Amino acid sequence: MAKRSKFIAIWLNKCPRCREGDMFETGSFSFSKPFEMLQGCEKCGQTYYPEPGFYFGSMFISYIITSFFSLAVVGFAMLVLDWSVEAAFGVLIGILAICYVWFFRLARSVWINVTIKYDPEAIDKNMGKGFDNS
Ligand SMILES: [Zn+2]
Repeated sequence: MAKRSKFIAIWLNKCPRCREGDMFETGSFSFSKPFEMLQGCEKCGQTYYPEPGFYFGSMFISYIITSFFSLAVVGFAMLVLDWSVEAAFGVLIGILAICYVWFFRLARSVWINVTIKYDPEAIDKNMGKGFDNS
């Protein structure tokens, strides 16, 4: 099976070590458990909480991603579409309200991928024993 690239793994919220297991139980646009993260990877056994307060740093990633996204949306609406400031920010607030959980998960995914290294043999090394999230 072809291995996922780091970018795709981050985009799909996959485990940073094996790029196969999910980091979240539900989809990004699901209303049930939007912020609940699994404790570890069900495929390779990698824990998603290496230390207490680990995801504090993802706040800064979230800030950077949201800032540049907001700048791009408002810039596009005002400079290309020639919208008013109020209309541009209205649309931005709407988009952010809908995609908030997705941005939150993306930031966490980027953060854990920065710290945990990819291991193509992670699942084989672990002999199929994944993390027990129950
Ligand atoms: Zn894994």
